[in-house]
Amino acid sequence: MQATPFQVVDGQLLGARQVASPNFNQRPEQTEIQLIVIHNISLPPSQFGGGYIEKFFQNQLDWSVHPYFQTIEGMQVSAHLLILRTGEVLQFVNFKDRAWHAGRSSYLGKVECNDYSIGIELEGSDDLNFEQNQYNVLAQVVAVLQRAYPKTDQHLAGHSDIAPKRKTDPGPHFQWNEFRTLLHKQKQ
Ligand SMILES: [Zn+2]
Repeated sequence: MQATPFQVVDGQLLGARQVASPNFNQRPEQTEIQLIVIHNISLPPSQFGGGYIEKFFQNQLDWSVHPYFQTIEGMQVSAHLLILRTGEVLQFVNFKDRAWHAGRSSYLGKVECNDYSIGIELEGSDDLNFEQNQYNVLAQVVAVLQRAYPKTDQHLAGHSDIAPKRKTDPGPHFQWNEFRTLLHKQKQ
């Protein structure tokens, strides 16, 4: 495994900025983490920076700031991790807990992916390329997660894979092949 600034200790990702979200609950008893789900999000859509995603996941977004925000008013969601355009990583929910990112979903016939997955949001949109730095950091983070939670090793999916009729993210600009190549190198 290549050198990385990240490490998983007690459900926390060291190297990530910790920002507590109230939007989580317990995973069902005896549930092992066995899937990593990749998403994209931007607020407002396709606009970056501003700190609105962070506020949204903390239920502190000022809905009056932008007309789009009114369409998501009151939604209570979260992800375990968010990777900003700069490559900075934020952690909102401990990996031992169940974050609210997938919604109605199924993977290999198992429903309710939130129960047994880790959700990673990339600051991005379906219309724009991701930053190289986001791929590099994502590969580092997924490599340490797969080491900490070995059942996720062969189980990576996009939100659109587990909720195909409802969701399109991480979208057509997410380069799965490039990402898998980086991940493979990272794990060597
Ligand atoms: Zn998503």
